[in-house]
Amino acid sequence: MSDRTKKLGTYDREFVWHPFTQMKEYEERDPVVIEGGEGSYLIDSEGRRYIDGVSSLWVNIHGHKVPEIDNAIKEQVDKLGHSTLLGVTNPPAAELAKELIDICPPGLKKVFYSGDGASAVEVALKMSFQYWQHKNKPRKTKFVYLENGYHGDTLGAVSVGGIDIFHSAFKPLLFESFQAPSYYCYRCPLGKEYPSCGVACAGEVEKILKEHHEEIAAVILEPYVQAAGGMIVSPPGYLRQVRESCDKYGVLLILDEVATGFGRTGKMFACGHEDVTPDLLVLGKGLTGGYLPLSATITTQDVYDAFLGDYEEFKTFFHGHSYAGNPVSCAAARGNLAAFENYNTLQNVEEKIEYLEDELKEFSGLRHVGDVRNKGLMVGIELVSDKETKEPFPAKMKMGWKVAEQAMENEVLIRPLGNVVVLMPPVGIPMEDLKKLVRVTYDSIKKATEEQ
Ligand code: PMP
Repeated sequence: MSDRTKKLGTYDREFVWHPFTQMKEYEERDPVVIEGGEGSYLIDSEGRRYIDGVSSLWVNIHGHKVPEIDNAIKEQVDKLGHSTLLGVTNPPAAELAKELIDICPPGLKKVFYSGDGASAVEVALKMSFQYWQHKNKPRKTKFVYLENGYHGDTLGAVSVGGIDIFHSAFKPLLFESFQAPSYYCYRCPLGKEYPSCGVACAGEVEKILKEHHEEIAAVILEPYVQAAGGMIVSPPGYLRQVRESCDKYGVLLILDEVATGFGRTGKMFACGHEDVTPDLLVLGKGLTGGYLPLSATITTQDVYDAFLGDYEEFKTFFHGHSYAGNPVSCAAARGNLAAFENYNTLQNVEEKIEYLEDELKEFSGLRHVGDVRNKGLMVGIELVSDKETKEPFPAKMKMGWKVAEQAMENEVLIRPLGNVVVLMPPVGIPMEDLKKLVRVTYDSIKKATEEQ
């Protein structure tokens, strides 16, 4: 190991507290220092190259060092690094908003910028809450969310989060919401089976709305894939059914596409698979192609109009983040959208999804693979200690991590969610890199699970 890597490791261990990381364990290992990127590869300070198998935590879209994004950023920093969006605008923020509305599901019209996914979720929650206040329905203050749902780590987002191990510690700080069952077919919370269930999990959302719609502002969920919940894939028809229930009972629908947006599921947005338009669409992560923090809460003219009034009525949406609409981030996002056009990303991903789905069939044959699921390039491979009983590996065994460690030895970087091995390569990953990612993952699962 070079002296430089050693020095960086020392500084890191001594001064950095890493997110979602048990630091006791982290401190015992030599840190991997990523300092370069090229296409679907990340390069560490020792020159080792790794396939970025989870898109740098689900953000990267066209790989690293994308000319369209690099140049857009460089050109923008020569003009302006930042200026507020409170009361004034800047060219990339205005142009990007227009471009986003052009690609969004029909009916969405207004873009509210923030910095990260959780902030954009907070905006969606507060906006839908206040919408009903302005509409003279002050009792509509609650939300419906799904078990296994995840919307970020700020307290509003945690209040509508459904992953106990992340969220239960903060319970006393949270506002009350209604929890509906997850659309988790492999471990169906209703004990049913698709398709004979008739997508009964969507029916459960409707039941809550039927009984409580007078106090419910909005339903919030991740369309098609509960990502952090374990890459859980919804049965087809679920989303449309929930949309119809929301319409029937006068409740807004918030779709959180922070993880599923920008081509990950094979369409620009996952709600496009069922031609559903939400009342509020939340975007983040892949918006800038994985370069810079930027998120957006995109809503309808109807929601926007409810906030219009004279100054002294104070109907204003009193919410904003310092870096909202940052011109460099917005320029990066415009570069990302240009790359979608230049590389025909959405057409080209179809062949990759087909290849991936074909390869994934083989994973099911492995002794400890209980379920293999995907929507587009979002993949979850659930490991179990016993396939018959679906008994999970005990947390102490850290089976997901064992697989990731094996993969790392073979120059593939992945990060599991408990016992679920996650693959989420950049949408623009070249076929040969995708093949390597799949092969190494297969071998790593086999080795890690069959060795114990
Ligand atoms: N929503 C979803 C669906 C997510 O997956 C995430 C992050 N993993 C977030 C919101 C929060 O985004 P951020 O980490 O940018 O705050």
